[in-house]
Amino acid sequence: MKNLAVLGATGSIGDSTLSVCRHNPDLYNVKFLYAATNVDKMLALCIEFEPAYVALSDCQASAQLQLSLQQTKLNCKVLPESEVLALLGSAEIDSVMAAIVGAAGLKTTLAAVYAGKEIFLANKESLVMSGALFIDAVKKHGATLLPVDSEHNAIFQSMSPILQQSIGACDLAGAGVSKIILTGSGGPFLNKPLSEFDSITSAAAIKHPNWSMGPKISIDSATMMNKGLEYIEAKWLFNTTREQLQVIIHPQSVIHSMVQYQDGSVLAQMGSPDMRIPIAHVMGGPQRIQSGAKQFDFFSSDSFTFCEPDYARYPCLKLAIQACYQGQHATTTLNAANEVAVEAFLGKKIKFSDIANIVDSVLNQLTHQAISSVSELIEIDKTARKVAVQMINRGVIC
Ligand code: NAD
Ligand code: MG
Repeated sequence: MKNLAVLGATGSIGDSTLSVCRHNPDLYNVKFLYAATNVDKMLALCIEFEPAYVALSDCQASAQLQLSLQQTKLNCKVLPESEVLALLGSAEIDSVMAAIVGAAGLKTTLAAVYAGKEIFLANKESLVMSGALFIDAVKKHGATLLPVDSEHNAIFQSMSPILQQSIGACDLAGAGVSKIILTGSGGPFLNKPLSEFDSITSAAAIKHPNWSMGPKISIDSATMMNKGLEYIEAKWLFNTTREQLQVIIHPQSVIHSMVQYQDGSVLAQMGSPDMRIPIAHVMGGPQRIQSGAKQFDFFSSDSFTFCEPDYARYPCLKLAIQACYQGQHATTTLNAANEVAVEAFLGKKIKFSDIANIVDSVLNQLTHQAISSVSELIEIDKTARKVAVQMINRGVIC
């Protein structure tokens, strides 16, 4: 049995991960649960999974959890935040589900990488932020990186073992791959008239037509920034060139992504839109295990359709692809500005279309800088957030 740490345990991916654990009780020992603020949910998870360690990044929530746990007979230690990285690096943990949302997941994900752990990567923002530094650290420390994001997991499943074993350094052309095709549903506004975009509410944007996810990624899906972040994620995971990576809209979300080969074959991974499928794939590998997801029903499904993304509808996708080729400073800036803008949109401080305007403007205001360390990345992230917040507070959105 492997010892598992679930980072982001109270979120949507946390739910799916723990559901896969319930279906496979002999596979993983849930050793550590980590989240931000949700005391009640964490307490319930502690009672069910009896982890040896638990932590909440919010101090008040952590103190409350400690009090609540004292009233149970559980032998579960509440760790202060300052001890989380050391635990992740220790021999007590074998595998880490990295499912904290946003840049907040960078430090813990990197701690698992530096300790050479098996990492199930859902937190795409950490890879987008740190790109080459992240991939170099994976190689240097012998970590095993397995993609949880449904598209990247689908691509991984459609690749030969030789490519699967060289994540971060794939020789795609050498393995006969001509193209990696990332599919995306287009989100809830695929057919909405552009003239109505300014009146889009957060409640409408959060309602994804096919997937049930946390609030930030749901908004990212509506702007297609999510596909942009996934484009950057795919570049790093699969070592693609610009010509080898393409985004296609597939509104039904049944084909989760594809690999096109030089001989004309296209391999795709399909299934219901349920994150337990890619999670069970990485957690069970190389075996196939129960995920709890429904089997795909061929006869009640819609026909599959495909179209090219329209950048006028999805400016965030265009900004992310541009940033991908501008360099690390640009992808770090893009990610930070987007996080601030999405939060402001969810807080009703800006309009839906302002998200792209803010990201664009922050990218234009910050100058190119070469990045050679994580501390430099974090500085760029901070500066980009500051500029984005100033724009929002002053109402300066072009
Ligand atoms: P969510 O909002 O549902 O959950 C986020 C989790 O992170 C929560 O448990 C929260 O408490 C925790 N968290 C936030 N800040 C933290 C901090 N500072 N310290 C510790 N914990 C913190 O988000 P989600 O939808 O589960 O997404 C999580 C990650 O997985 C994101 O990076 C997202 O892009 C990625 N992802 C999600 C899906 C999906 O279907 N939900 C699919 C693919 C990838
Ligand atoms: Mg995805």
